[in-house]
This record gives sequence, C-alpha cells and structure tokens, in this order.
Amino acid sequence: MRATFADGGTGAFDALIGADGVHSAIRALALGKEAEFARSLGYYTAAFVLDSPPLRGLPPDAFSTLTEPGRQVAIYPIRGDRLATFFIHKADRALDDFSAEAARAALRRVYGDMNWVVPELLDRSREVAGLYFDVVEQITMPRWSQGRVALVGDACQCVSLLAGQGASMTMAGAYTLALECVFFSAATGLGQIRVSRGHGPGGARCRLPASALPLDRGQRQRVLRSGSVLTCFVYTYPARA
Ligand SMILES: Cc1cc2nc3c(=O)[nH]c(=O)nc-3n(C[C@H](O)[C@H](O)[C@H](O)COP(=O)(O)OP(=O)(O)OC[C@H]3O[C@@H](n4cnc5c(N)ncnc54)[C@H](O)[C@@H]3O)c2cc1C
Repeated sequence: MRATFADGGTGAFDALIGADGVHSAIRALALGKEAEFARSLGYYTAAFVLDSPPLRGLPPDAFSTLTEPGRQVAIYPIRGDRLATFFIHKADRALDDFSAEAARAALRRVYGDMNWVVPELLDRSREVAGLYFDVVEQITMPRWSQGRVALVGDACQCVSLLAGQGASMTMAGAYTLALECVFFSAATGLGQIRVSRGHGPGGARCRLPASALPLDRGQRQRVLRSGSVLTCFVYTYPARA
C-alpha cells in the first residue's frame, strides 16, 4: 500500500499501523468516524507537568489528590524532579474549543474556589507550554483492522485516564500485534495478520496472541522463556493448511 504524508512525502509499505491516539486520523481514514466508536464519559480533563521543584506541603514520592463530587485534582512526582498534575471535572456544557486559552479558562471557572495546592497550580498553569485539555472518552470498536491497516493503543482501545493503565494496554496491544505479525507472516504471509483482542492461556503475564494457541504447553513455555519469539516460533509453530 502507498501512504502520503503531511509533508508531501510518499512511501510503499506492507502494512500501516495507526498508533495516533484517541483522535486517530488513521482510524478515520480506514475504519470510520470517531463518533461511531467514541463513548463520552461526561468529563473533561486538563493535564500539565511542572519542571520546577515540588510545591510546598506535598508529601514527597506520593500521589496526592483532592476529590470532590464532580471534580478531582491530582499531583504526583515523575522522573527528573518534576511534578505531573491532572484535573478532571464533570462537564457542565459541551465544549468544542480545546486551545490552551480555553483550558486555562476552564481551570479557573471549575477549580477557582478550591483550596489545598490548587490556587498555586492554577497560577503555575500559566507558565507551562504543553497544556493538555480534552474530553474524556473511551474508544470501543468491533474490529481493530481493515485490510492492511491496523490500529494500536488509544486509537482502538482507549479506556481513558479514569480507568488507568492506558499506556500499559497500549504497549501490550502493540506487543500482541507484533507477535501476530511474527506468527502469521512466518506461517501464511503478511496479508493474513489477525489482530487479537485477547490473551492466550496464562493471561496478561504471558501475552500470547490467539494465533499461538495451537502450540502445546511446552512449546508456549519455550517461546516465553526464550526471549526470542521469532526464533522459537520458526522452530515450533505447527504448519497450517
Ligand atoms: C491526563 C492523563 C493521564 C494519564 N495517566 C496515565 C497513567 O498514569 N498510566 C497509564 O497507563 N495511562 C495513563 N493515561 C493514558 C495514556 O496516556 C494513554 O492510554 C496512552 O498514552 C495511549 O498511547 P497511544 O500511543 O495510543 O496514544 P498517544 O500517547 O496519544 O500518542 C499518539 C501520538 O500520535 C501523534 N499523532 C496524532 N495524530 C497524528 C498525525 N496526524 N500525524 C502524526 N502524529 C500524530 C500524537 O502527537 C501522539 O504523539 C493518561 C491519560 C491522560 C490524558
């Protein structure tokens, strides 16, 4: 398949993997409009990272949160002596402007009367360059691929930050898709890749894709132990008709 990029460049590829997030453009091009798959949870979220040292009064190395009905502020240390913070609030009206100015206005309107470290956070939100602001929604799809186009991560399985573990699920999904490519390209050719939504026996710890199910227990364990799925697979995968 041929792809044309925003800068005008083109290329020919065996497959196109859309890893472009909850508002995926690849999904819109290949599988359908966002509205078909989006489930709004009725909340908005803003998030930013503070580069300077922690705010006074916060316990170090702890996730701290102030939660009230309909709104939550959370702050937690991340690598590099930085602080990550996010705000979640119930929507009082639908928004369609997600600019930094709209984000700051929403933060002031919704959280302006909160105490704790919130006033300082609101002040310091003015100094950050990357202010994330978005609707909180989940993406559920009946299928994650169309021909040679496949999706991974929030583009097809967004659980939202309310559920947590979205990044882990994204990596697990990409890992599973990569294994599917290895199994199926060796057995049948790239055109027959299946995208697995589940895990094989052993659960998430193993993360074996469905196409590995024909392997017997000993073969699966060798695959997992080897650390080299490709090598093991080539020797152990039973031929398919
Ligand atoms: C405030 C907040 C806090 C969170 N906290 C956690 C947490 O603690 N733990 C956790 O596991 N998950 C957390 N999540 C969820 C997690 O961030 C996501 O599930 C994860 O980032 C999804 O990864 P992804 O690669 O699918 O999408 P993204 O991380 O959204 O990456 C998509 C990438 O595609 C790029 N892109 C989009 N469109 C185009 C285009 N047309 N051309 C080129 N590039 C494009 C984007 O710039 C972006 O870099 C949080 C989410 C939010 C909003």
